[in-house]
Amino acid sequence: MAYLDAHPGFGLPAVAGLGLLIGSFLNVVILRLPPRLEWSWRRDAREILEQNDLYEPPPPGIVVERSHCPRCNHQLAWFENIPLLSWLALRGKCRSCSNPISFQYPLVELLTGLLFLACAWRFGFGWKCFGALLFTSFLIALSGIDLRTKLLPDQLTLPLMWLGLVAASDNLYMPTKPALLGAMAGYMSLWSVYWVFKQLTGKEGMGHGDFKLLAALGAWIGLAGILPTILMSSLLGALIGSIWLLAKGRDKATPIPFGPYLAVAGWISFMWGPQLVDWYMGVAGLA
Ligand SMILES: [Zn+2]
Repeated sequence: MAYLDAHPGFGLPAVAGLGLLIGSFLNVVILRLPPRLEWSWRRDAREILEQNDLYEPPPPGIVVERSHCPRCNHQLAWFENIPLLSWLALRGKCRSCSNPISFQYPLVELLTGLLFLACAWRFGFGWKCFGALLFTSFLIALSGIDLRTKLLPDQLTLPLMWLGLVAASDNLYMPTKPALLGAMAGYMSLWSVYWVFKQLTGKEGMGHGDFKLLAALGAWIGLAGILPTILMSSLLGALIGSIWLLAKGRDKATPIPFGPYLAVAGWISFMWGPQLVDWYMGVAGLA
């Protein structure tokens, strides 16, 4: 680690490369986790309804099964599976059937590479950086899944929260107390908004996954990061929501998942929270 700190010319490209590889894995998680979950929910439902005779084969697993082209089922060779480079070399088309390959693949890979780079730049090399890479990976997977399916699976939000609390138990980014309170406040704040909204309108304006995601974020950014994260994500949501309305027209305004906004705001709070608050106080003339 000391070697990497002393030679950033070697460490930073290595971290970016690792980011591309992990990004490639996150693509698989984003695409395969929701169908796996839905399959297991249907299986549980059949068990409760005692319809065990209806068998449904499970969808592909996340780790074991090789990658295929979703259109022609062509199994990818190793050189078609290199993050970013394969997509560029194939010019975004399947080698077998020439159908376009989703832009999601290179986008997630590139994003993961860049954010990993930012983590190493911010924290140097060591446990703080390792934790930041884990945190970043979970948030990318959760955002991708929420954008595609409007789900924020417990299988990701809950471990992310436990990991944040474990990091705090070792005083990695903050002591245990602010992390614990952050997780609680994260859950309770959005839950109260949801509850009040439901009492007033009879509608459910938010998913339970959003509370759990903010609880997980709270474990990493602490109690002090919760309010800035809520404000920033609401601002982002309002901004992007109105651009969306202008571009697509009012009739096409489908509910936009809130998870990615929370994830972006939480990530920024995690990386530069205190600096951001100082900057804001300076601009507002409060400090
Ligand atoms: Zn194909």
